[in-house]
Amino acid sequence: MSAAICWFRRDLRLADNPALTAAAHDGRPVLPVYIHAPDEAGAWAPGAASNWWLHHSLRALAAALADHGLPLIIRQGDTLATLQALIAETGAGAVHWNRIYEPALIRRDKGIKQALREHGLEVHSHNAALLHEPWTVQTGTGSDYKAFTPFWRACRRQGEPSPPLPRPPRLQAPETVQSPPGAPHHADNAAVDALGLLPAIDWAGGLRARWQPGEDGAHKRLEGFVAATLAAYASGRDLPAVEGTSRLSPHLHFGEIGPRQVWQAVQIHLARGQTGAGDWLQGAEQFLAEIGWREFAHHVLYHHPDFPDAPLNPRFADFPWQDDPDGALLRAWERGETGIPLVDAGMRELYATGWMHNRVRMVVGSFLVKNLRLPWQAGERWFWDTLVDADLASNSLGWQWVAGSGADAAPYFRVFNPVRQGERFDAEGDYVAHWLPALARLPAKHRHAPWAAPAAVRADAGLTLGVQYPHPMVDLGASRQAALAAFQAIKKPG
Ligand SMILES: Cc1cc2nc3c(=O)[nH]c(=O)nc-3n(C[C@H](O)[C@H](O)[C@H](O)COP(=O)(O)OP(=O)(O)OC[C@H]3O[C@@H](n4cnc5c(N)ncnc54)[C@H](O)[C@@H]3O)c2cc1C
Repeated sequence: MSAAICWFRRDLRLADNPALTAAAHDGRPVLPVYIHAPDEAGAWAPGAASNWWLHHSLRALAAALADHGLPLIIRQGDTLATLQALIAETGAGAVHWNRIYEPALIRRDKGIKQALREHGLEVHSHNAALLHEPWTVQTGTGSDYKAFTPFWRACRRQGEPSPPLPRPPRLQAPETVQSPPGAPHHADNAAVDALGLLPAIDWAGGLRARWQPGEDGAHKRLEGFVAATLAAYASGRDLPAVEGTSRLSPHLHFGEIGPRQVWQAVQIHLARGQTGAGDWLQGAEQFLAEIGWREFAHHVLYHHPDFPDAPLNPRFADFPWQDDPDGALLRAWERGETGIPLVDAGMRELYATGWMHNRVRMVVGSFLVKNLRLPWQAGERWFWDTLVDADLASNSLGWQWVAGSGADAAPYFRVFNPVRQGERFDAEGDYVAHWLPALARLPAKHRHAPWAAPAAVRADAGLTLGVQYPHPMVDLGASRQAALAAFQAIKKPG
């Protein structure tokens, strides 16, 4: 029987992997392949933090496949040409992959499917990444959704998602790539290393300390979250100082775990009736709705391919952004040197760990777009390079939400006050103190606005503004007014 290629992409797992299951159907030999071709993603080739994650996730995948006696074949270069060469080398008769919903990759994949089929190959794509593929959820008039709540209601009306697939029970390598009997199988780490995904200067210590990329790490994270955190999700999810959310986002982005598996884990826990308490049920429902936001982001991107670059609401194209000729304003924001503690703490958490709490993402985004009046696309790019969960759909949705220009976005007149947000969601100032040690000796009530603390209190805490920690780069009240005036200028006449 000729082998089937399983082309791994954003589905770096063995369980609930429809492409792998289909490739291995009927005991057919499987050739697992990863092809590194970042340029094919067009303007949105993965950033540095994503590359760090990918390196480790590929190593984990290669090790998991080696345990089953399968080598992960790693190549670089034009994907179609590479697949064709592999087919010629191995005599593979079929190719399976799981779909990605990004505009440039949809175009590429369509071309590959057509070209391979023309050469007589059996080619199938599958859904591993979503509960509801973008074209399967429609309004009553057959169009796409622009708001989350009706979208999610329509998804829920479709009933429970299908259960996840088990790991294929038996995987067999084609004879041409089998190890001699009795020889141990080793993952080819050198092939992963050769992709050059790790940074030349090692800045990734904080990422290593925080994350375990790969399928095992994803399952540990899910199990730990469901067992220990989900019960308090409703009250803890907005508090950046505690681990109140799942931190599954990078695992979901790279497909080390899929939403069907996450959904099932929550349902099993609910069915066991672990607590029965209202807060618990509310937390579970809210958590599933966050998975729904991920679905919605993919829905919007699929139906609006220029969503990452252009405001969904065209009026925002004329927004009068602030001049930042030498990039100093943007740089202060990127480095967490704005003098606004919650913003700076978030930006430093991002740089150190590759992740930032959702509440703080909204606050730093609002500060960039509204208080500094810098284009949301500049923030989107920085997140793209620094987040380990950088995801074209969710990042675009997040930034257009913040800017007020997207689907179901924050109203333009909502300008987060980072001091109020800090006092509300980081009441003890623990989050700020952790990421900004210069503020740690201030009493909690002054940590979110050190400039407003009495001089003697600052002196007691060993803090001189402009020395250990900057003065605020803008006046929050005046910049809010300037933002509102700018938004007024682009409002629909009449
Ligand atoms: C400006 C901005 C940019 C963002 N960029 C990204 C991004 O590049 N990648 C990304 O995955 N998320 C992004 N988000 C959404 C959200 O902040 C993260 O998904 C969340 O913080 C991840 O943490 P978690 O896994 O602990 O979330 P949990 O609260 O545990 O949620 C579970 C899962 O639901 C999904 N999810 C949760 N909130 C959202 C949301 N608002 N939109 C889409 N999916 C969501 C994620 O997959 C997440 O892992 C962004 C939000 C904002 C405001």
